[in-house]
Amino acid sequence: MLKIGYLNLDNPLAIISSNGSSDLGSFSGSAGLIMLGRFNLDEVTPSEIKRTMDRRRPRSALGFSVVGGELEDLTETAKMAAQRGHLIEVELPRTDGISDLVRAIKNSGATLSVRVRPDAVDDLRPLARELKEAGADILHLDLRDLGSGAPKIVKKISDGGAPPLMVRCDVGDFQDARNILSMGADMISLSDEADPEFVAWLADILKRFHDLVGWYNAPKHICSGGDLRGMAFCCPPVKNCLLLGALKKVGISPKEFVDRKLALTKGTPLEPGDGTCFGSLAWCCKITKPCFMRDAVLDRHGIAPDEYMRLKKKLAVDLLKA
Ligand code: SF4
Ligand code: SF4
Repeated sequence: MLKIGYLNLDNPLAIISSNGSSDLGSFSGSAGLIMLGRFNLDEVTPSEIKRTMDRRRPRSALGFSVVGGELEDLTETAKMAAQRGHLIEVELPRTDGISDLVRAIKNSGATLSVRVRPDAVDDLRPLARELKEAGADILHLDLRDLGSGAPKIVKKISDGGAPPLMVRCDVGDFQDARNILSMGADMISLSDEADPEFVAWLADILKRFHDLVGWYNAPKHICSGGDLRGMAFCCPPVKNCLLLGALKKVGISPKEFVDRKLALTKGTPLEPGDGTCFGSLAWCCKITKPCFMRDAVLDRHGIAPDEYMRLKKKLAVDLLKA
């Protein structure tokens, strides 16, 4: 369902251990990722971490988090993580020199998550961009105290340019999870105190949702408060609407947007659209918005609804990186 670095995740839920020795077996096979730690490299050696990790054989992807330590310890630990296909997560000690630290760890071949609390830095956006450029695979944000403000922060950081986002937040049901995922989060992390039955239920419902709509963290339409990925569902900019502000953020003109969308969909299954509002599926709405005109085109061209959304996901990625 989700690939990040060399990790293949069955679903976007991660369980975070607060204690390296705790037994997370009850989440094995239900959470997409199980993360042990945090290990303090000023107190334990990379070999001790290796021994602890080697005792775990969950049916979920496995990772661990570290703090402290010298660069040499970090890179040795990262090499061990890479050899075993584990995620290594580094808690951000400071923001200066972070690019060099990320590059050094990435050179070891490891899939890397960087964890940060929003109160650790004034504005996370430049840091998120820096981490993305340096090659971090995940930015792990702890937004537990922000309640209903968390989705807005996720949108702001996602729109500013960031690595895939894993968000630690309070999630009590499917809608809470969707509120975070639809703003640009790729993963949700939960404490190991979460109810294993709840985690298994949420993981299952997210997988079924993904199978049904083809894009488990699809954005809302821009005019419904969605993040920039929502431009994949936008109409041509023919009226005064929130798309114009989104285009300003991306730094392209309305004409460039039209040209770019047409070029990116030309010759793809999103090109046709006879009978739709703007003559091409390139401009059509999310599959969750009922529309018989779009659905008639999908039927005519044999495009399944989940395939349509996968194509829109690719379009969103290409629009934002072009
Ligand atoms: S272009 Fe269409 S979908 Fe996009 S924000 Fe404007 S009205 Fe909404
Ligand atoms: S045809 Fe339907 S899906 Fe396409 S833009 Fe119009 S309302 Fe949206």
